[in-house]
Amino acid sequence: MSYEAIARKYRPETFAQVVGQAHVTDTLRAAVRRDKLSHAYLFSGPRGCGKTTVARLLAKAINCPRPAEGDPCGECESCRAIARGGYLDVLEIDAASNTGVDNIRELRDMAQYSPSEGSSRVFIIDEVHMLSKGAFNALLKILEEPPARVFFFFATTEVHKIPRTIISRCQRFDFRLLSQEELSGRLSEVAGAEGVKLAPGALRTLVSLAEGSLRDGLSLLDQMLAASEGEVTEEAVVGAFGLIRSEVYLDLNDAVIARDPVAGLALVDDLARAGQSLGTFARGIVTNFRNLMLLKIDAELARMVDLPADQLSRLGGQAAAFSEQDLLALIERASGHFERIHRSTQPRILLEAAVVEYTRFESRVLLADLARRLGQLAPGAGGGASGAGDRRPQTSRGETKGGSAGTKSSQQGAAEIPAGGMFPSSPAGAAADTVPGWTRLIEVLMQKAPRVGACLMNGLPSFDPDSGRLIIAFAADKEFQVGSIRGDCDRVAALAAKLWQQEVRVELVLGERGQEENITEGIRREVAPTQSEELKQACAEDPALGSLVEMMDAAPLPDGERDRWQDPTD
Ligand SMILES: [Zn+2]
Repeated sequence: MSYEAIARKYRPETFAQVVGQAHVTDTLRAAVRRDKLSHAYLFSGPRGCGKTTVARLLAKAINCPRPAEGDPCGECESCRAIARGGYLDVLEIDAASNTGVDNIRELRDMAQYSPSEGSSRVFIIDEVHMLSKGAFNALLKILEEPPARVFFFFATTEVHKIPRTIISRCQRFDFRLLSQEELSGRLSEVAGAEGVKLAPGALRTLVSLAEGSLRDGLSLLDQMLAASEGEVTEEAVVGAFGLIRSEVYLDLNDAVIARDPVAGLALVDDLARAGQSLGTFARGIVTNFRNLMLLKIDAELARMVDLPADQLSRLGGQAAAFSEQDLLALIERASGHFERIHRSTQPRILLEAAVVEYTRFESRVLLADLARRLGQLAPGAGGGASGAGDRRPQTSRGETKGGSAGTKSSQQGAAEIPAGGMFPSSPAGAAADTVPGWTRLIEVLMQKAPRVGACLMNGLPSFDPDSGRLIIAFAADKEFQVGSIRGDCDRVAALAAKLWQQEVRVELVLGERGQEENITEGIRREVAPTQSEELKQACAEDPALGSLVEMMDAAPLPDGERDRWQDPTD
């Protein structure tokens, strides 16, 4: 069965059967019933929402000799003639192909003749915004003095392109997109009437694809009905339209949370092997991060996320692992990636690079913590590590293991993530465990040599006061960054010696491949996060910090920055 056939077969025959536009149809039916019709109606709204359907219904109702409560009877000669497009006094014009002034003059001449007895002449002009300026002027002349029993129904998707002079002479009705409930209700009805069972997942996917347009929804359903026997499954819909299963995005989130590029790249490989559109996947990633953000902001917003209940709950668990700030940054990055991937002749490589970037994403909550600590350390702030006794590091902490939360597996359930997220907001015991002078050292570095300070922030320090060895461990994937500051070790040591008032030797250590997680975990425990709001606030109050945050997201500072290197205690 072709789309036209199914659309015609289930075309509404009464105003009440029009789905989702009751604010329009109730008013029109009342106007017919009380014979209080306007000469011109303007139906505006998105495509596929029923504008021309309502226009035809109204044309029938006006011409029906025995309308029932404002609805056309659907059975008389004129109702049936209008339904087949064979009623002489109802004329449909597509303005897209009849844009000129001559077309409208012709129409004006037609309007002057009286319709046949007892009938009303109706002009339905679709896409009326396509008319030329001259055509609109000719139309305006008719609307200024409309002949008796002549009606104009205009439909448009772009009402802003219609002259005000025309709009002001029309009764205007705005059609809206259908809700998911309305669309799924109608599609189920039609499938049921066709004797086909629509699986819940299949229905949800079709509704999602239709994006609020009933016409599109019916067209999609029609394609599925043609290819199915008795039942339409979700797999069939996903396969027919080359869609990507929503679970794939949830798997990607697991990989991002576990900092697991291998799992992320495997997802890309699977999609590529299955011949699916990588551009579609890249676009879906943006939506996926958006969904995470909504759930992060408020669980109530789940109603705006188009996923089944079990996937929603999994997504909700994943959202706890990110900060709002993280998700805003990820959305921005993913949008940029989509733009590039969409245009690229090498989409796979770009997509792989993007996935690696997400799985290596450094949480901004680390910076938030830095901001908090800077605040505490500021002179006069009190309570911080500014006392003389605090300056000298007291503890040694060579151990970088421990606490690896087993987040590696992409199979892990959301329940394993602690309630406070991967980055708990109050890490009991972490403060006593740190190298006390470390934050002060980073703070001074940030002022004097931000490039070096920013790099060291990614390291995990341990200090032995007896030998004076300051070992800073980095994840293996920070090799490039570490290489770029090796030449600065002596100066870092000199600075630390000055601050801590003792001999210090600095060693930069790269972790082994595969140990990234331990080190990242250690840093995470060490420099515990605070809310992103705090970072925003701190940045607002301190422009230098603001630019630091920006810098952390961009390239390292130029070498010229080194010129500002000075002894902090001078
Ligand atoms: Zn009738």
